[in-house]
Amino acid sequence: MKVTNGEHIQFKNGELQVPKFPIIPFIEGDGVGSDVWAAASRVIDAAIEKVYHGEKKIIWKEVYAGQKAYDKTGEWLPKETLEAVREYLVAIKGPLATPIGGGIRSLNVALRQELDLFTCLRPVRYFKGVPSPVKAPEKVDMVIFRENTEDIYAGIEFPKDSEEAKRLISFLQNDLQTSKIRFPGSSGIGVKPVSEEGTSRLVRAAIEYALLENRKSVTLVHKGNIMKFTEGAFKTWGYEVAENLFGDRVFTMRQYETIVKDAGTDKANQALRAAESQGKLIVKDVIADNFLQQILIQPEAYDVVATLNLNGDYISDALAAQVGGIGISPGANMNFETGHAIFEATHGTAPNLAGQNKANPSSLLLSGVMMLEQLKWYEAAEKITKAIEKTILSKVVTIDFAQIMDDAKEVSCSAFADRLIEHL
Ligand code: NAD
Repeated sequence: MKVTNGEHIQFKNGELQVPKFPIIPFIEGDGVGSDVWAAASRVIDAAIEKVYHGEKKIIWKEVYAGQKAYDKTGEWLPKETLEAVREYLVAIKGPLATPIGGGIRSLNVALRQELDLFTCLRPVRYFKGVPSPVKAPEKVDMVIFRENTEDIYAGIEFPKDSEEAKRLISFLQNDLQTSKIRFPGSSGIGVKPVSEEGTSRLVRAAIEYALLENRKSVTLVHKGNIMKFTEGAFKTWGYEVAENLFGDRVFTMRQYETIVKDAGTDKANQALRAAESQGKLIVKDVIADNFLQQILIQPEAYDVVATLNLNGDYISDALAAQVGGIGISPGANMNFETGHAIFEATHGTAPNLAGQNKANPSSLLLSGVMMLEQLKWYEAAEKITKAIEKTILSKVVTIDFAQIMDDAKEVSCSAFADRLIEHL
């Protein structure tokens, strides 16, 4: 396959322009990366061939990051890799090991920051037959928009006793007159920036997605009761985006509260019911700790979720575990304003399975499904999703599921891909 046959994906007027033979860079990844990439890419190619009979095809272009890059170039994240992702807009990657002592905190974080991929998108749904710890996992069908560039994850952190921590603590105590640091002599210090711009672009992307996909609600998840000017402001700015940019296509629970105050609860309930029957998108908010209860008690009440970085990290994994899909949940890091997107396996390099052809390729494959949907190659995406459903229902699975399913047949990573292709 010649890369020169392919063409660039473009981003014009807020939309991807996808040629019939788009060039898409891939990073195979470390550990089980080579196994899961080989399996996932084979299934993606087979589904595209099956649906489009050679009329459309992805021209894969390998780029390097992680151990493979280090072995080839002496760098963990070569400039060419970043440039390729920047140039071709859409890319896909397997898991990357976090280099120890390499001067780079995390390759994943570096990729996100370099390309300003401000949303970590994690759809969470149940696949029939997957073992789950809850009674009704099929009630979970949510899409998490996690802010990816701010919050306590911004990486502004200084260790106890460092010059920076001492100076910052002294500034807080002397210039800002705060006496709230309980043990100033032995504190590490982290900073939590949350901006109006960062919040607005995330919430806007979540609402646009929800409207496009005919979802019922967007929930802003925050800890604004405690952290008023960061998490509380996220809620306020989120409601402002909804009301100012989307007008009467949405009804917010802030509007509901205003009606309660002005005209009473009955009138507010009437307005809410009217909005629902008109098909308006409901924008609501919930405190993060309550949300973690609610997703167990009534997950069907939640749909699209927009949240800050740290909350989003916990919530994505809690929800993925709830549907039994922690090993197969997909994800993407995206910038909806530039079109840049990296679709990725959400698990790590699974060193205990590396090089054994045993890993489950479903996380990377389902990320590939998200990528195909982004390209608007919906038929191929659906074929793969259906094939995964059928294969899991037939109880032919990889080691991770075989260990916890009754009467399952364990197959290798590549044999699992063969079964998926048979089911396309
Ligand atoms: P891990 O996800 O690699 O492994 C956790 C457990 O899940 C292990 O038991 C592993 O065998 C299992 N597992 C993971 N993926 C699997 C798959 N596809 N099929 C079957 N079983 C699977 O997490 P870890 O051990 O904490 O991390 C190992 C390395 O991966 C670290 O260097 C970490 O920094 C990195 N990591 C990378 C990413 C990423 O690239 N997105 C995410 C998490 C961790």
